[in-house]
Amino acid sequence: MDFDWTYTYSLLWDSDFWRACWTVAQLSISAWLIAGAVGFVLALAKQSRIAPLNWPARIYIWFFRSLPLLVLLVFVYNLPQVFPASSIVLASPFYAGLIALVLSETAYMAEIHRGGILSVPKGQYEAGKALGIRYSGIQRLIVIPQAIRIALPTLSNEFVTIVKLTSLVSVISLTEILLVGQRLYTQNFLIFETMLAVAFYYVLVVTLFDKALIRLESFLDVTQRKARPFVLSDADRKEVQALRESAIEAREQRRQQVSDTPVLQVRGINKHYASHHALQNIDLTVRQGDVISIIGPSGSGKTSLIRALNGLETIDTGSVLVNGRHFLGEHSEECEKSAADQILDIGMVFQSFNLFPHKTALENVMLAPTYHRRGSTRSRRILALSQLYKVGLIEHANKYPHQLSGGQQQRVAIARALAMKPSIMLFDEPTSALDPELVSEVLKVLEQLASEGMTMLIVTHEMQFAFSVSNRVIFMKDGAIAYDSTPEALRNTEDPRVKDFLHQVMH
Ligand code: ADP
Ligand code: MG
Repeated sequence: MDFDWTYTYSLLWDSDFWRACWTVAQLSISAWLIAGAVGFVLALAKQSRIAPLNWPARIYIWFFRSLPLLVLLVFVYNLPQVFPASSIVLASPFYAGLIALVLSETAYMAEIHRGGILSVPKGQYEAGKALGIRYSGIQRLIVIPQAIRIALPTLSNEFVTIVKLTSLVSVISLTEILLVGQRLYTQNFLIFETMLAVAFYYVLVVTLFDKALIRLESFLDVTQRKARPFVLSDADRKEVQALRESAIEAREQRRQQVSDTPVLQVRGINKHYASHHALQNIDLTVRQGDVISIIGPSGSGKTSLIRALNGLETIDTGSVLVNGRHFLGEHSEECEKSAADQILDIGMVFQSFNLFPHKTALENVMLAPTYHRRGSTRSRRILALSQLYKVGLIEHANKYPHQLSGGQQQRVAIARALAMKPSIMLFDEPTSALDPELVSEVLKVLEQLASEGMTMLIVTHEMQFAFSVSNRVIFMKDGAIAYDSTPEALRNTEDPRVKDFLHQVMH
């Protein structure tokens, strides 16, 4: 058989093929983007615990993944026979093809996104929640960017699949690449020559987009980025300095007029995990300027308590009041400020930092003030810079979390919590995830905060720190507060439970 190379070659300049390539590109990109967006919503619905969201999502994914695209195409294209009104859109093979592709691909994309969403650590949601960011904000600012980054290789792969699937749209007579080829070889019978050109055009479209997606992937991959040096401009430096001076004045004023209302009141909190009674009748009053260390054996409920105080853990009974207003539990619905606003009075620092890995140190600190629209863009930046200055990291403002040491990350996390100007800061073992040589830099920041009169509740195993910096130490045992006193009284107590514990951790 003679292979007519000249003919194949001539097809590379065929305007019908190039037009068809453009149609395929438009169809594939539209289907990929629409199915990608709708698929994300579907993935969230499938993850949801709300049955009216969860079940339809499950059924959709099950049904459209089972249905062959070819069947769906013929069905959608012929729908106007049953619903004549739909012909406005479906008479066009492009739109009929797009709708069928989107219906089918959304089901696949949802599963791909679900993989991405599941690999965003729980701590990321909690950090967002602790900053008072609502569900949609957490999704938009924290989860989606990370989930998409994780799922992008698989999403790119799905794009290639879509490009190839567009060849099926020829059955509803859309003039895409395969149909142009078919029309040619049914006239001249040069099947191989024509199909070689068809293959060339598909490979070309896939290759071009593959390259673009690889670029997008490396653009979104912050771990590949180089740390940009941060230079504080003179104007910024002056404003940061001025802000710090006014903050010191404000603090002195506050110190002179200490409010009688406790910053935090905890009344009769109980919490069960299944049958395990993790928190038992916890009563606690924290006054302005209190620095309270919470110590106790592992599993005694320290983390549960701290998390219950800012709503990261639900409580069975009892209530939490912040600055005299009901926040959680009984009567919380009566308070004039919503829980979402009151959470801003409580800053939270986690054991594992939970910084947002796709944002720089400065962006991490600015995220909550920006979300809550606190002040102008300029004032938020100055505030964030002054918080970073306070924790000694201003020169690292442009670095991503992975470019910082554990101690530095924790200090950024402290700055991030401080940026919302909370009335009280909660720390859950802030130094436990750190290498020993990095512990002191974080403790120094805590000491500085304590000296500035910040009200703090710190779960810690650093006994020297607990005894030297706190004015109160709480000892927890089996979910209850077993001892609540000054450091001196606790150190000299004859209570065997406390003595045993101190003996174990200090020797
Ligand atoms: P601590 O911080 O003092 O080590 P935790 O507050 O983490 O203690 O845990 C208190 C108890 O509650 C432990 O016995 C722990 O196993 C249990 N617990 C904590 N979180 C959960 C959970 N999400 N589900 C079930 N049990 C839990
Ligand atoms: Mg703990």
